[in-house]
Amino acid sequence: MSSRKGLSNSEEVPPIDLHGLVRELFPINRSLTGAGVRETLAILARHIQLEVREVPSGTAVLDWHVPLEWNIRGATIRALDGRCLVDFADNNLHVVGYSKPIHEEVSRAELAQHVHTLPDQPELIPYRTGYFADDWGFCMPDNLWRTMQDESYRVDIDSDLSPGSLTYGELFLPGELSDEVLITAHVCHPSLANDNLSGIAVAVALAMRQAQRRRQLGCRFLFIPATIGAITWLAHNESQLGKIRHGLVLTCIGDAGPFHYKLSRSGAPIDNAVAHILRHSGQPYEIVPFSPYGYDERQFCSPGFNLPVGCLMRSVHGTFPEYHTSADNVDFVKPQALNQSYALVAELLDLLDGNRMYARTDGRGEPQLGRRGLYRAIAGQKEAGGANQMDLLWLLNLADGRHSLLDIAERADIPFSRVQAAVRLAKDADLIREEHSP
Ligand code: ZN
Repeated sequence: MSSRKGLSNSEEVPPIDLHGLVRELFPINRSLTGAGVRETLAILARHIQLEVREVPSGTAVLDWHVPLEWNIRGATIRALDGRCLVDFADNNLHVVGYSKPIHEEVSRAELAQHVHTLPDQPELIPYRTGYFADDWGFCMPDNLWRTMQDESYRVDIDSDLSPGSLTYGELFLPGELSDEVLITAHVCHPSLANDNLSGIAVAVALAMRQAQRRRQLGCRFLFIPATIGAITWLAHNESQLGKIRHGLVLTCIGDAGPFHYKLSRSGAPIDNAVAHILRHSGQPYEIVPFSPYGYDERQFCSPGFNLPVGCLMRSVHGTFPEYHTSADNVDFVKPQALNQSYALVAELLDLLDGNRMYARTDGRGEPQLGRRGLYRAIAGQKEAGGANQMDLLWLLNLADGRHSLLDIAERADIPFSRVQAAVRLAKDADLIREEHSP
């Protein structure tokens, strides 16, 4: 018996307009540090009880140090007659992240050393950073750069790199157990919608949802600058890391591409849980192996931590032409894709939280279902996700204190929600009792 029905939560509507949040956050100039990250977190804090943490520049974190804080107020390239050719105010991708200030007239040849374009995508502005470069630079469409043939230009970047702090946001929703699920999104990209804002928006909506539910597992949400933010959080929470039972990095989950799930480094229950949900989602998807390149799973899955953290994406970073360009804009991110990603992870969180272990109260032989009214109960179930007789028989056979509900769902090849429905029937009839958590 096999089922390939759609997402059982596919009707679940996010508690906020995800695409609206992406559009609201899009214009802000985020970076590893600085005012844009604070402004972003302040907007998120309107929806969730976010704790905003500031870690001073220079703080030693693992093998790294928290960098200087970077802020920028404006930047232009002008012709010597004053005409403005490139303006940061038009698009914050125009300036290389962490550019140092400059106010000079430079030759075209010198400017060329500091200009980044995409000759193969001549209409688009690339996204570039130089966090540790002690340099400055501009990004622009190749088409524009080709028209700039004057001998010299006036270049201004009104920025500063100075001691300040690294800012990140954290929300912890305690559960009945001390174990936790970790959900993270990066907040360090400027006007890029899929890479950064999609994960932020979905994570905020999930945090709002989880805050309203009774939870067995705690839920921890991190909104952190990539790499250095994860390293900083890990360095400051080392004694707590053993509580993380499952973790998921959310990134690039707002485009129309199929889901991709990147496995954790060493294999973990979350890998099986995501695979189960994707398999029963009715959506196209691919599961890809762990690799030490990508997002903050690199830090969480470093050998000294080896946390059970995977990464959920739709299109994979670096493989779509909009990636790290001005084409990764609010139109590239689709409301329906964001909502679907939200529903998928919501279902995953329910699975992780509900994946208990049961044992038969009396495991000798099959219980007599008819005497307990269970045939009638099954026949009367109208709602989607209701258990059928085979589901109940699988549960009653594998409820031996050694198979989790996910194990049973996998063995019976049915969605997790149907095993849960069978559990409700069997529990009501005192046929099973909960054992220790798997
Ligand atoms: Zn990126």
